[in-house]
Amino acid sequence: MSQSTFKRNAHIAYFKRCLTVLPQAAEEHDVNRVTIAFFSLAGLELLGALDHTTRTGWINWLWELQAADGGFRGSPLPGPGHLPSTYTALCSLALLRAPLDRLDRPGLMKFLRACQEEDGSFAPSPGMPGAFQNDTRMSYCAAVTRAVALKGEAEDGRIKDIDVGAARAFLGRCRTWEGGYASRPGVVEAQGGTTYCAAAGLSLLGGVEDDGETTRWIVQRQLGGFQGRPGKLEDVCYSFWCCGALATFDREALVNAPANTSFILDAQSPIGGFGKAPSDFPDPFHSYLALAALALTPAREELGLKAIDAVWNLPADARDYLLA
Ligand SMILES: [Zn+2]
Repeated sequence: MSQSTFKRNAHIAYFKRCLTVLPQAAEEHDVNRVTIAFFSLAGLELLGALDHTTRTGWINWLWELQAADGGFRGSPLPGPGHLPSTYTALCSLALLRAPLDRLDRPGLMKFLRACQEEDGSFAPSPGMPGAFQNDTRMSYCAAVTRAVALKGEAEDGRIKDIDVGAARAFLGRCRTWEGGYASRPGVVEAQGGTTYCAAAGLSLLGGVEDDGETTRWIVQRQLGGFQGRPGKLEDVCYSFWCCGALATFDREALVNAPANTSFILDAQSPIGGFGKAPSDFPDPFHSYLALAALALTPAREELGLKAIDAVWNLPADARDYLLA
């Protein structure tokens, strides 16, 4: 049965529920609270329904996550800053239009420099070197955080930059013979999510140009929706990762948009939110990424969704807020 009707009100209610109580299914994803907050706030913002009545409480809570090392933690418990939590906290502050006078931009860059390894990769926290966690996702979070620290300007001497050349070289070494990008150098198989992180990360760190091989690998991932790797099933999150990566190369026109849109809409849950595929239980991660993927399609305006910046994975006006 087709679910082509967009269940806008159910999605708004779903994200509001996520902000008050985390559904059990969300816990399986092992993402922390600041990440769930980001998906829910960003989902509501794309729907044009971000409710500001609880704004002050959320903003105060986000500032409590700012660590002494300049990054943000995943929870208010004492500890070092955490790179993915720093990315999601910054994006959440922007979505809430929080006054940014407490944001320590030089501290953010100091935190990034402490996370960066000699091979150009980034550890999730300072002092956690050499771990398998230093992957393209960390590089992407570092690239967005750096752009916020620099406020979109080139290094001007006031803030000491990370080693951008090494960061770019690390991402370059993640590219596989297939044309997509793997999580780390030496990992044989490319994947849609890590390909997005590498392409968008390179775009933020000085620009990216595809010789055609990455584009070809991504386009071949479309079945109707997108799979993450050859031989896998479609999953709505790959509609964002794959189409977002194509958008960094200005190649999104190569997508079969009606088939992609139809697959995503079929993954809507009757109670709001999206599962990873039709008939799957919704979770905040897939619910937000499904909306973000729809915001990249020609159906965006018809569905009443705000414009999204594919590289920042954030509504364009929230990106502008961080760079103002
Ligand atoms: Zn998924």
